[in-house]
Amino acid sequence: MSTPLVPHFIAGEWIRPAGLATTPVYNPSTGDVIAECPVGGATEVNAAVTAAHAAFADWRETPAVDRARVFFRYRQLVEQNFDRICATVSREHGKTLAEARGSAFRGLENIEYACGVPSLLFGDTLENLARGVDCETFLQPLGVCVGITPFNFPAMVPLWMYPLAIACGNTFVLKPSEKVPLTAVLLGELLEQAGLPKGVFNIVHGGRDCVDALLTHPQVRAVSFVGSSPVAKYIYETGTRNGKRVQANGGAKNYIVIMPDADIPKTVEALSTAAFGCAGERCMAGSTAITVGAAAERLLPSLVDAARKIRVGPTDRPAQPDMGPVISALHRDRILDLVATGEREGAKVIADGRGVKVTDAPRGFYLGATIVDGVQQNMTLAREEVFGPVLNVMRMDDLDRAIEITNASAFGNGAAIFTNSGKAAREFKHRVKAGMVGINVGVPATMAMFPFTGWDDSFYGDLHIQGREAVQFYTQQKVVTTRWFGDGVGDVWKK
Ligand code: NAD
Repeated sequence: MSTPLVPHFIAGEWIRPAGLATTPVYNPSTGDVIAECPVGGATEVNAAVTAAHAAFADWRETPAVDRARVFFRYRQLVEQNFDRICATVSREHGKTLAEARGSAFRGLENIEYACGVPSLLFGDTLENLARGVDCETFLQPLGVCVGITPFNFPAMVPLWMYPLAIACGNTFVLKPSEKVPLTAVLLGELLEQAGLPKGVFNIVHGGRDCVDALLTHPQVRAVSFVGSSPVAKYIYETGTRNGKRVQANGGAKNYIVIMPDADIPKTVEALSTAAFGCAGERCMAGSTAITVGAAAERLLPSLVDAARKIRVGPTDRPAQPDMGPVISALHRDRILDLVATGEREGAKVIADGRGVKVTDAPRGFYLGATIVDGVQQNMTLAREEVFGPVLNVMRMDDLDRAIEITNASAFGNGAAIFTNSGKAAREFKHRVKAGMVGINVGVPATMAMFPFTGWDDSFYGDLHIQGREAVQFYTQQKVVTTRWFGDGVGDVWKK
């Protein structure tokens, strides 16, 4: 049986381009190629943007309540097909079904948020700005918006973007990660079934050429990006240079500070989930634990024990492991290299998942939970995003130094503290340089109604994804000032 070709979705048609270049889509649990993703370029982008631009004329005139109704139907379809969506996420990404469900649910909440668009688009009014003069604001859509998404959340991250953008009256072109295009296609089929007019939502697949064509297309007005920091910076600079509004979420290195008074069993549970959940492939993964004072002795034995108990295995079958594979053999080897570099630079591996064997799926891309102790600020492991099931441990004497280390990071996505001291927590939340902060919460990722507020190298732009900031991102404000003269035909009401 030949490997299926993933279709583009352009102007309401599913298009399978024959004879052009493709990239393989893997099932990371088995190492098998499960599909071929077409490498689209300027031709496909031009067709998709042209379709989206043409569809905008009518879609922007469609009342907000009618646009919202499409998303009420979409919500229901996504819920009805939830198991299929999560199985697809597991199959092409390698998340466990529980992780796929959790993240897809975060995506579903973004559809629910978009259903409230009539109220989200309210403007302001002021009567008698001057005598007889009134002022009002409207939020109007921009036009064609673009979403470029990473491999690590095949359902959630695209759902951060297009439901709200489209509900606000824009049309959309999604360029999903070429590593996980199948979930995007399934979500697109459901949106089509929900009754969205042709051309309002489009999908093009590809890599850099495709992205460049989107960033430079004159009819594209706004670009939402999620991915690694170097690419985020490139997208921001290229997009803004070409006159686009851009929000670009980048990578991360998130620190979790553990104070000596922390509740150890609860901290171990939260820290293992933060570090090893989704095999560490999360921009909000807690990748470095900073223990303060005696916290190290209290925490590390149970933490190592918990890491060793994590069962690694294939996620594409009924018996579920605790942790699935990483996305590719290349990525696994990069993680192995980073851990080896850490050892060379003087750190010590205290839980070693590198030799993990998965006998029923020997060609899968597996790594076990790994903890590296004695990491110092100048080491490669302390600086680079590993994006795998590897937790660094740094030991500090006091909270001031822990905050100093956290704040020295080039990234600024998330940070967390585990403590029973209100004073320590208050100090941390006030001084820490990160956009999303957890207090006794290991993964303080925000839900649909709050913005996803990365700072520094974790975000390039002004208005973040999700929540009210996203409504602002996907709309432009118009202020109308009105005065009526007294001698016009309108004066008939006086007679
Ligand atoms: P990536 O940057 O390699 O790819 C992201 C997207 O950009 C993909 O669609 C890809 O096709 C495209 N792309 C890749 N290289 C490109 C280039 N040179 N020019 C133009 N486009 C290019 O990221 P990834 O490996 O798919 O995802 C993992 C990264 O995403 C991690 O760094 C992670 O922290 C980050 N991430 C961030 C957030 C956040 O909200 N801050 C959320 C999820 C993931």
